[in-house]
Amino acid sequence: MLKPERYRHFVEYFSKHQPSAVTELHYSSPFELLVAVILSAQCTDKRINQVTPALFKQFPTPAALAASTSDEVFNYIRSVSYPNNKAKHLVGMAKMLVEVFNGEVPSDLNDLQKMPGVGRKTANVIASVVFDLPAIAVDTHVFRVANRIGLTTNARTPLAVEKQLTEFLPRETLGIAHHWLILHGRYICVARSPKCEICPISWFCRYYDRNNTEAALLKAEALKTKKAKDLKKKKQLNIISKELKKRSVDKDI
Ligand code: SF4
Repeated sequence: MLKPERYRHFVEYFSKHQPSAVTELHYSSPFELLVAVILSAQCTDKRINQVTPALFKQFPTPAALAASTSDEVFNYIRSVSYPNNKAKHLVGMAKMLVEVFNGEVPSDLNDLQKMPGVGRKTANVIASVVFDLPAIAVDTHVFRVANRIGLTTNARTPLAVEKQLTEFLPRETLGIAHHWLILHGRYICVARSPKCEICPISWFCRYYDRNNTEAALLKAEALKTKKAKDLKKKKQLNIISKELKKRSVDKDI
């Protein structure tokens, strides 16, 4: 299957079956989403959703967070991964929001990435989710699933994946495609053992195609070897049987 065809099936399938896929992080403002996305690096959305209600209650605005200390923030996020660094990043990010961006989350990718804890992935999430800009964030799920399906070829870095997805996906689907790939990776195309047997898109998946073709070839080869062995065994039995018959006749004579 050629790449454009695979992309077409991908967009058609998910547009039909998940027309309103959204992030599973809980938030009620751009600032809260920014905090949640920074926290979610190398951590599960479920865990982040457990800590953010108390965090948002204590620090409801960029100014409140900017006025706190990383030690104070640490107490609210101690159960997430890398809490020390993330606490420092959150306070630093809030300070910059207040001092440089007037307390407003910026929409520009470069501005976003100037803030502590905000890399390209986080900036893309904010740009697409908050500002509806044509951007696609590549996290570990997007990276893996896009490659398995065959949406990317030889893309070895998140940036390379982002570039290929941006080139082939219709602009208006870039934001939602991020959620399609994440959700598919989280629940079906899981990292260790993808659940191909129940996957609804296996019919256009490159990984599935390759593995099944290989499995089918191996099975055919094994069957061929078994048949050859059976035939050999049968021939040997025939020879033995004939020999025994011959001996018995000779004895009778
Ligand atoms: S068929 Fe398997 S590898 Fe392909 S997308 Fe589905 S779960 Fe992932």
